Amino acid sequence: MKVFLRRLSRDIPDRNRPSVVPAGLMISDSNTPLSPAAPAVRPHLLGLTREQLAAWAVERGFARLHALTLWHEIHQKGRTTFTPRDRMPPRFLQRVDEELAQDRPTVAKETHSSDGFTRKYLLALADGRLVETVLMRYHGRTTACVSSQVGCAMGCTFCATGQMGYVRHLTAAEIVAQALHVDAVLRETAPSTEGPPTSAPALAKPEHPSAFHRHERLRNIVFMGMGEPLHNYDAVMQAVDILREPSGLAMAGERLTVSTVGVVPGIRRLAREGRPVSLAVSLHGATQEERATLVPAARRWPLDELMDACREYTAITGRRIFFEWTLIDGRNDRVEDARAVAALLRGIPAQVNLIPLNPTGGYDGRPGGVEGARRFQDTLKAAGIPSTVRQRRGIDIAAGCGQLAVG
Ligand code: SAH
Ligand code: SF4
Repeated sequence: MKVFLRRLSRDIPDRNRPSVVPAGLMISDSNTPLSPAAPAVRPHLLGLTREQLAAWAVERGFARLHALTLWHEIHQKGRTTFTPRDRMPPRFLQRVDEELAQDRPTVAKETHSSDGFTRKYLLALADGRLVETVLMRYHGRTTACVSSQVGCAMGCTFCATGQMGYVRHLTAAEIVAQALHVDAVLRETAPSTEGPPTSAPALAKPEHPSAFHRHERLRNIVFMGMGEPLHNYDAVMQAVDILREPSGLAMAGERLTVSTVGVVPGIRRLAREGRPVSLAVSLHGATQEERATLVPAARRWPLDELMDACREYTAITGRRIFFEWTLIDGRNDRVEDARAVAALLRGIPAQVNLIPLNPTGGYDGRPGGVEGARRFQDTLKAAGIPSTVRQRRGIDIAAGCGQLAVG
């Protein structure tokens, strides 16, 4: 454990070394405007905000309008190829081709859950690395669960991504590409043909059946795929800015949820920078000792520091925080655990999301039963803390929380 801790606090992942490392930590305070991570040598077209692309064009003597047209075609209309017929001069398009990378991840594998609502995409990146992206389509909502890293350095014991180790950060372009992919799938699929199988449990019925009969777009994005988003802060926030752009996918800030294992400097920075995203903090243990056995990163950022950062976040932003709690049978699903959570969150505007443990190869805990989850919820409710129990979706295709991993 000592070796691990030394690594966690000291190692800077080497971008040029693609091998898997079990852990490492890099929190940068710089906010580089372009995608900072491997593997792009040239800036990537998808990693530029609308304004950055406009500035790029103007610097090269092109009209700003051409850049805005191109940006709109990509992010609003979902286009991937362009010709001079698209109201942009050939010289401009040629310069874009010469100077900006435009590769998109390719779908290496697509799997559909028998629940009728969940699809998982294994995407191959330009350097051959793989990530997973999940499309969820239920309760009248369309949600993409995107990855922020290949693997993860945080090493949570019960998480398949943590079990595979850290490979590299994703670039902003690679994150945006996942959202554009899911948006394209939604638009291409005839909505009325997709819905719950007739044998699906009642819970699987969409709350608003009409939602399946309109032209669908992506409405929610959760950074809950592979990786720790606040460990890759710059690229994730650059992607957030691109995804929120009104003339693009126009994602509402509160519908973009950044989920963190508790990277304290990242939470504080997010509070200061004022991006209106939703924040989810993965808690899982209500004392430092218990939490650290499940979440090794807790040794780097202890629970009291984390809670201070959360209080600061809610005070500065005025927003509540979603706290995630993976329910593990006999481990953290007892009534006394719920009481400890309630005490910990006292005074913090919070909602708790309970996630019954999903199976992963490297951890043999079991999810608590329905009764246990209900007791946990009742205890929180008595303390005035709202909570939800995450419905188990896509488990048959290993698309549930913490199940994403690539070989
Ligand atoms: N790294 C970020 C986001 C990705 S994990 C984070 O940890 O918050 C998304 C959520 O899935 C987290 O709350 C995480 O704790 C949870 N999770 C991980 N493994 C799980 C498992 N096996 N079963 C249920 N939830 C799990
Ligand atoms: Fe990383 Fe999140 Fe998995 Fe922990 S739960 S290993 S932080 S992806």
